[in-house]
Amino acid sequence: MSGKEVQLVVVGSIGIDTIETPVERRESILGGSASYACATSAMYSHVGMVGVVGADFPEAYENLYRHFNIDLAGLQKKEGETFRWSGVYKENMDDRDTLSTELNVLAEFAPRLPDRYRKAPFLFLANIGPDLQQEVLDQMEQPKFVAMDTMDLWINIQRDALVKVIGQVDLLTLNESEARRLSGEHFLPIAAERLLAMGPRYVLIKKGEHGSMLFSQDDIFVLPAFPLNNVQDPTGAGDAFAGGFMGSLAALGEVNEDTIRTAMVYGSVVASFAVEAFSLERLKTLTRADIETRANLFRDMMRIPGALVPA
Ligand code: AMP
Repeated sequence: MSGKEVQLVVVGSIGIDTIETPVERRESILGGSASYACATSAMYSHVGMVGVVGADFPEAYENLYRHFNIDLAGLQKKEGETFRWSGVYKENMDDRDTLSTELNVLAEFAPRLPDRYRKAPFLFLANIGPDLQQEVLDQMEQPKFVAMDTMDLWINIQRDALVKVIGQVDLLTLNESEARRLSGEHFLPIAAERLLAMGPRYVLIKKGEHGSMLFSQDDIFVLPAFPLNNVQDPTGAGDAFAGGFMGSLAALGEVNEDTIRTAMVYGSVVASFAVEAFSLERLKTLTRADIETRANLFRDMMRIPGALVPA
């Protein structure tokens, strides 16, 4: 696979997670924003991963990345331990508390993009410190479309650096509580207006099991989430959404209202699979046919007969 043109570059965290849900606890499983975003986007595009792992990173996990056909030329292996994160979910399977975050090799990470990555037309800055997102953005030649994610931690401790990156991207994605915190506004359309004023053309607000909303200067698109009855682990849902979105958008090639809305459907469907199991377990066996079947079901659920008007 190495040598092939990279359509989409993804930078983010690569972590070893310990996760507790109301039904199960799993230790030392593969996580990180880049893991979820790459595994999902690689369903549709040739994806170049940018990230760092420690000497303790299991070979089985690296092989799993290969199973997904992720380009690993931008993956660094350093002395020391891999980033570790642990969290516990509340009964509603949505709210969670972070128990511990150990940056380890991520603390010294200096992203270096292989030449072949720099020419890629699409870039996704997944959740990682804004200084690292900036370093990756600076190494790209002339990306056609750049999206970024973030989290409340960076809003709280590195706001200025974060706002600077936001000013240079085409699309900002974040969840609704983060949108409120960053904008200082409660109502999402007003929050989105404030965030659009920071520079991006699009603001995509994720609302967990309630779906997502896309805002631009002159348009709002609302999408429900695919209804599920067997969520095992919501970790990485947002990263999987963004991966499905960016991977399918890069494969569609053009960025316009139709391709953006289509990519949101794929993001939503791919994320619905990701949460049906821990880590990348469900994604491992997922096929494009599975996605297409669920995408068609999803489109049917949203079909509204346009011409009927009650007398
Ligand atoms: P999400 O559920 O979308 O918030 O993503 C969860 C993933 O983010 C987990 O697999 C963690 O390894 C990773 N993660 C947790 N905290 C951080 C952090 N401070 N920076 C980057 N990634 C993180």
